[in-house]
Amino acid sequence: MTNEEFRNFGHNMVDWMADYFQQIESLPVKAQVEPGEIYQQLPELPPEEAESFSQIFRDFQTKILKGITHWQHPNFFAYFPANNSYPSILGEMLTATLGAQCMIWETSPAAAELEQKVMEWMKQMMGLPAEFTGVIQDTASTATLCALLTARESATDFQSNKSGLDSKTKFTVYCSTQTHSSIDKAIKIAGIGSDQLRKIPVDRDFAMRPDALEKEIQTDIALGFHPLCVVASIGTTSSTAIDPVKKIGEICQKHRLWLHVDGAYAGTAMLLPEKRWIIEGLELADSYVFNPHKWMFTNFDCSAYYVKDESKLIRTFEILPEYLKTQVDKQVNNYRDWGIQLGRRFRALKLWFVIRSFGVKGLQKKIRHHIELSHYFLEAIQKHPEVELLAPTPLNLVCFRLKPSQLSSEEALTRLNATLMQKMNASGKVYLTHTKLNGIYTLRVAIGQTHVQKENVDQLLNLLWKTYEEIKSSLKLG
Ligand SMILES: *Cc1c(COP(=O)(O)O)cnc(C)c1O
Repeated sequence: MTNEEFRNFGHNMVDWMADYFQQIESLPVKAQVEPGEIYQQLPELPPEEAESFSQIFRDFQTKILKGITHWQHPNFFAYFPANNSYPSILGEMLTATLGAQCMIWETSPAAAELEQKVMEWMKQMMGLPAEFTGVIQDTASTATLCALLTARESATDFQSNKSGLDSKTKFTVYCSTQTHSSIDKAIKIAGIGSDQLRKIPVDRDFAMRPDALEKEIQTDIALGFHPLCVVASIGTTSSTAIDPVKKIGEICQKHRLWLHVDGAYAGTAMLLPEKRWIIEGLELADSYVFNPHKWMFTNFDCSAYYVKDESKLIRTFEILPEYLKTQVDKQVNNYRDWGIQLGRRFRALKLWFVIRSFGVKGLQKKIRHHIELSHYFLEAIQKHPEVELLAPTPLNLVCFRLKPSQLSSEEALTRLNATLMQKMNASGKVYLTHTKLNGIYTLRVAIGQTHVQKENVDQLLNLLWKTYEEIKSSLKLG
């Protein structure tokens, strides 16, 4: 491809991108393909000869696009959103164009210094503790792994990095039964062992019970374990339950445990002063993560990781081979030492574009609107006599099921709600997903897509009632 062709295709493609957003509501939200369908239409062998870009792009449109689930569709209510936004996409285009590998300051000083600045901005925008220092990681899973590794190193005076884990010390880690699977993964990778992960029971709102945590820690101490770390969640994945950070933090201080707070999704709500009760006590945490790549309109991937003492983080990950030594190492942040990867993308650019294009007020307005829409949805379904709410809605996730009075067996209710969800998703008009709460099959509706409006929530409600009535009449339930 020549520079001239790049220019032409680039213009065409930006037109295509703008059209895509204009027409996105005509596409099925969830990809309507069978396993293997995309794979089978692709040639067995790679092309020996160059192909024209027009052909390649045509194949993208005809062969790839139908196998895409449209996360930016305003009727995407599944999982949690992974939002982008126009300024973020433009930022990604420039990041790709510069193609800078930002492992150390010298390999792109602006990338390192912009990262430092936007992480300071977000701290101010969200009322995070002043003593926190931030770094961008790829995902919350990686950030949580970094937290556990740092906790392990600081508990062993940085000896386990050197001599390996000693078999006599049995570390234990605590989280609630609702905690995200990334903690289970990190425990395995960090060499702590899943047998040493304690899942603390939750209260009726699915928040960790501090009394049960305290008891479990004391039992472990009595049995000769070494309690290492608690992972508290603000906004659990199943139901956005909020663990009581302050009480948990006090227990951690008392027993000298590391406290990591996972706010992967809900962290964005800290833009709103009226929601900051959620992070009361966060100054007691040693580390904290939230994902601008979920609810804050910034393309995947971009995860904001904050630590209270960056020297512990750096000591855990530091390496200094001769070929990476520079004159300025003492004056700058070399982010290769702040996490697992050496090579790093220039992620701060899209975040800077997003924060500046929306402004703090613009971000707050959108997040508030999403929370209002969820309450609108919540009030609408609450009026229906056969809706059972299954968890509180502190933010913008609604957990519920349909429960016709004629059905009482859990099995039948699970079947009904699973069918309801599958039929709604198969219509291509909306996409929602489920979880289990107290063993109950639960529908989840997360209302936080960048472009979602009241009309979209109305479409969801209409489809919900229509599909429910169809199922009821097919089951002869009136
Ligand atoms: C989504 C989520 C994660 C994982 O986020 P990644 O960035 O995909 O690793 C972790 N914790 C919670 C509470 C989440 O909702």
